Amino acid sequence: MAAFGSVFMPQMALTRFEQGAWSTPQIVSADSISLHPGAHVLHYASTCFEGLKAFKHSDGSINLFRMEKNVARLIQSSALLSLPQPDAATLSQMIIDIVRQYASDVPEPPGSMYIRPTHIGTEAAIGKAAAPTASSMLYVLLSPVGDYFAGGSKPLRLLLEQNGARCAAHMGMVKSGGNYASALQPILKARASVQADQVLFCPGGDVQETGAANFILIDGNEIITKALDSSFLHGVTRDSVLTLARDMGMVVSERELSVTELLERAAKPGTEAALSGTAAVLTPVGTLIANGTEHTVGSGEAGPATLKLRQALNDIQWGKAEDKHGWLTKL
Ligand code: PMP
Repeated sequence: MAAFGSVFMPQMALTRFEQGAWSTPQIVSADSISLHPGAHVLHYASTCFEGLKAFKHSDGSINLFRMEKNVARLIQSSALLSLPQPDAATLSQMIIDIVRQYASDVPEPPGSMYIRPTHIGTEAAIGKAAAPTASSMLYVLLSPVGDYFAGGSKPLRLLLEQNGARCAAHMGMVKSGGNYASALQPILKARASVQADQVLFCPGGDVQETGAANFILIDGNEIITKALDSSFLHGVTRDSVLTLARDMGMVVSERELSVTELLERAAKPGTEAALSGTAAVLTPVGTLIANGTEHTVGSGEAGPATLKLRQALNDIQWGKAEDKHGWLTKL
């Protein structure tokens, strides 16, 4: 099967911001876009994007999961990058229109249609190193995906990076390409040196997130994860999992978590840890590697709370449980 995110639907929804106004969105070929080589995005990284999914239910309906949250995050990212402000209703309609067009291509669960809204600064202006782009392009790409962890969810090995940060401290909440580029070297080094699957960024001992997912710790009836601040991405899956945990009567602690506390708690037999994200859903973490030492999290296997939360989330997404928080938009 093709790698996650390597197959695209042939068309996308697109709008441009030029001379102070957004154009009427259109459905255009997704084969290529034309950009001036001096485009702002190519030099000064004026780009942000989103990732959300559409699911097919057994009644044949197509359902977007928490689209409003992703739309709001793209608008926030655009603002923090000084890109033109997209309109929430217009972007939502673009998503709906393009997913409707490819409704018959949405895979059955556990697959889904991955939706990638992307916003880039297009002004040809290499003199604008310290000024915003005057024009931009916003498009919505679609990529049908299978199960991200098709090999089963084998518990992950995470290297704890306590010196370097994933990105600049005030930019973590922005879903921008530059953040991903800056996290690559630590991730590649962690793979090569200790065969880690991911890096858990913990600058100064502050447990934040990995390169593409949030981190949660489960200790008995308590679920612990960093409280929202500007240093990391405010995951939609994180929010959904915490809501489901509260529904199940768990205690949700959104607060600072130090590496010291994490390792102490991880050593207890019943402790679980997991990564949450649109692609990762909820993937168990079995091993933490800190300062050259391997620490098994609880039993080292996927724990019951992680599996229960993952199932509860999938059940809503797949239409097998009541959508009591109103997270789905049925097309
Ligand atoms: N952190 C980072 C850095 C990510 O790339 C992602 C994936 N979008 C997440 C967290 C999880 O966010 P979400 O649950 O909204 O997919």
